[in-house]
This record gives sequence, structure tokens and C-alpha cells, in this order.
Amino acid sequence: MKIGLFGGTFNPVHLGHLRAAVEVREGFELDEIYLIPAALPPHKATGEVAAPDDRLNMLNLALGTAGGLKVSDVELKRSGPSYTIDTVAHFKRTLPAESSLFLIMGLDAFLEIDTWKSYRELLALIPFIVINRPHADSRAAGGPWKLLADYLATELAADYSFSASRSAYLARGRQPIYVWEVTALDISSTRIRRAISENRPIDYWVPTKVAEYIRTKGIYR
Ligand code: ATP
Repeated sequence: MKIGLFGGTFNPVHLGHLRAAVEVREGFELDEIYLIPAALPPHKATGEVAAPDDRLNMLNLALGTAGGLKVSDVELKRSGPSYTIDTVAHFKRTLPAESSLFLIMGLDAFLEIDTWKSYRELLALIPFIVINRPHADSRAAGGPWKLLADYLATELAADYSFSASRSAYLARGRQPIYVWEVTALDISSTRIRRAISENRPIDYWVPTKVAEYIRTKGIYR
């Protein structure tokens, strides 16, 4: 089985997350992708974060019966803040030994990887799939992948080299970092929360059922 792990705050889940997951699953022929909401996001202010149960419910509503995408509450069940290294260890422990795991994240998230707990171990432990994200792209003069190349060379200081045939950065002692172009959807949870607080519509940024849930429960107002 080939399994993708896609963590995030999902505050709330939106079509940018969902479309990216569908395209990565298709592109890498993954059997399943787990969307994993974080408990106390170590890198984000916690004031604006909806209750764990609400974020989980919205993910379940968003996925419905969509094939191959699942929700995992492993980080919400663990005490304390969520660290990806612990989550990867959990899946390695609990999935059948022959499973291959991939860690999926947007470019904006990857560009902060050097602030993550045990990031060097993480880069050695599991292959990454880094996807483009419009707002991260627009910052970059040479496009999103130039930003990634520069970051790998300067911040991570490992001798990564790009393999065009594998569409991945490779380095001795590290797992590959695959780059994957998904449909650029300039949607973020921040934008959605802001629209709600300003009484503007969020339709078609999130699945209909998620918009209804947010409205009914009065979240983010
Ligand atoms: P916020 O605006 O609150 O920071 P967000 O929209 O970035 O939230 P997260 O839950 O933090 O959403 O993101 C989880 C993962 O999904 C991250 O790896 C992020 O890069 C990726 N991601 C989020 N939005 C998109 C998008 N529109 N396209 C591609 N990847 C995305």
C-alpha cells in the first residue's frame, strides 16, 4: 500500500486542500491519503483556531464518501502539541510493514521545515511530496521551484541535487523530496476566516456541507 500523510490545521478545510490531495493521490498512485488535523499547531497562534471536534467534523463532512481520502484523528488524540515526527512514527508502527509512506505539504509549509522538531530525522525517515501554492509562488522571482531550490541549498545545507526523471531532489542519507504541480487554487483558511468575520460569502471556497456547518454553528464570526 502507498499511503500519503497530509497534515494541517484545517481551520477550516477548503477546496485548495482537497483538490491538491486528489491530484497528488492520482499522480503518485497512492492508495490512500490521510488528512490529519493538528492539535495545537506549534507554528500558529491558537486564538483563531476552531475547536478540534469542529475541525474534525468539517473534514469528515468535506470528504463524505470521496475515494481514497481519509481523516485521521491521531494528532487530536495525542496530548500536547502535534509534531509530525511523532505522527510519522505512529503510522510506521501501525501500518503493515510493506506500506510506503509519503509526507505531503504545500511549498509554504516546506519552506519552514527547518523550524520543525527533528526535521533532519524527518527528512531521512520519509519521502516528501511538495506541492505549489499560489501565494508562495508569487513571492518568488524565478517561480516556486526556484524558491525551493534556493531553500534546499541555503537553509538545509545538504547536497541535494535535482533528478528531472524522478522530479525529485535527492541527497545521500535523505529520502527524496518530490515536487508536484497541482492546480493552483489561491484559497487559504485565513482568507475564509476573514470573509466570515466580515460577513462575506465563502461559497465555493469550501464544500457546501462545510459552509453549512460553519454557518449553523456560528464558527469564525
Ligand atoms: P491558514 O491560512 O490558516 O494558514 P492554510 O490554508 O495554509 O491555513 P493549512 O491547514 O495550514 O491551511 O494547510 C495544510 C497544508 O495544506 C499545508 O501543507 C499547506 O501548504 C497546504 N495547503 C493549504 N492550502 C493550499 C492550497 N490552496 N493549495 C495547495 N496546498 C495548500
